[in-house]
Amino acid sequence: MIQPHGGKLISRLASEEEKNFYLSQSLKKIFIEKDEALDAEKIAIGSFSPLEGFMTEKELLSVCREMLLPDGNVWSIPIILQVNDISHIKNEEKILLVDKTDNRPIAVLQVEDIYRLNKKEIANTVFGTLDENHPGVRRLYQKGDYAVGGKIILLNRPDFPNKEYELDPAETREIFRERGWKTVVAFQTRNAPHRAHEYLHRLGMEIGDGLFIHPIIGLKKEGDFDSRTIIEAYQVLINSYYPHSKVLLAGLSTSMRYAGPREAVFHAIVRKNYGATHFLVGRDHAGVGDYYDPFAAHRIFEEIPDIGIQIVKFYNVFYCSKCEGIVSENTCSHPEQFITKISMTKIRNMLSEGKKPPKEMLREEVSQFLIENFYLITEDYR
Ligand SMILES: [Zn+2]
Repeated sequence: MIQPHGGKLISRLASEEEKNFYLSQSLKKIFIEKDEALDAEKIAIGSFSPLEGFMTEKELLSVCREMLLPDGNVWSIPIILQVNDISHIKNEEKILLVDKTDNRPIAVLQVEDIYRLNKKEIANTVFGTLDENHPGVRRLYQKGDYAVGGKIILLNRPDFPNKEYELDPAETREIFRERGWKTVVAFQTRNAPHRAHEYLHRLGMEIGDGLFIHPIIGLKKEGDFDSRTIIEAYQVLINSYYPHSKVLLAGLSTSMRYAGPREAVFHAIVRKNYGATHFLVGRDHAGVGDYYDPFAAHRIFEEIPDIGIQIVKFYNVFYCSKCEGIVSENTCSHPEQFITKISMTKIRNMLSEGKKPPKEMLREEVSQFLIENFYLITEDYR
């Protein structure tokens, strides 16, 4: 079984006793957003190993500037707790983090650092742009100007839709062990599956003992698919076409950050923590608009030290009428007039007009499901 990032699977879950103890104390509170509540949970269950808490300034700057944690482990995305007001927070005290959407106490934070953020530097290094039309930059700018860093202990799991589809890293690792999967190819997505995705799934099932389909079901941007729709569309595809013994499907409730290449690294590290040995990275991974070069998410893995999970890069995948199948630019030589590009934007537009996308793009069963159940996120991304 592959080692978690940093060598050990982090667990920061409070025992019942600890939980009762902390809840009986009158700790100061910080009210946090849903995405931070989900981050706290992912830290605590080891999805973000080796992180044990929200980043201190030293960790943040090291991640922004070097793409490394101070301990030398590769890390590409800030996991920070932004706050507006720090006047009531003191170093070294314990603070209760409360989900502001439902007042649920989520975690206790042992304050190690309170600092002012240089948002420009974060935006520039992580997202490669200062443009506030970029959803990641916009969110960074909308949230507090300060950050509080320190280790956490999780008291309660945050409430979030579709949680029942999730598995903890310890659970997926156990499933892979039980199934005897020595090689596990992880597939990241934030979309319902189209035929180009299917090509990659099959590639994953060919090269690995198993395929781990792990769609992001956290906060996304306006116009993305609703998470339940994604999961259920996957169930339709898996039930109709794939050998069950070769596939594991589970959701991952963490927000999309739309950081392109850096998020590809983050996504790979997280899947390593869940026990995957291989990670598929395609064109414009975790991109948005045209902020990133489509293959920057491939090149970044050449520029960083080995992160211990094998990156399987793929290129443009499309339907070719001459080849009569789904192919890629590595496997087909035909000119443009034979090629049908498969894009989720195109598919979404057709669906929203009530049209059925051609079967070269989308399986009939998935089409039917999406036509019957389809709706888009409109305001989920705050
Ligand atoms: Zn061809």
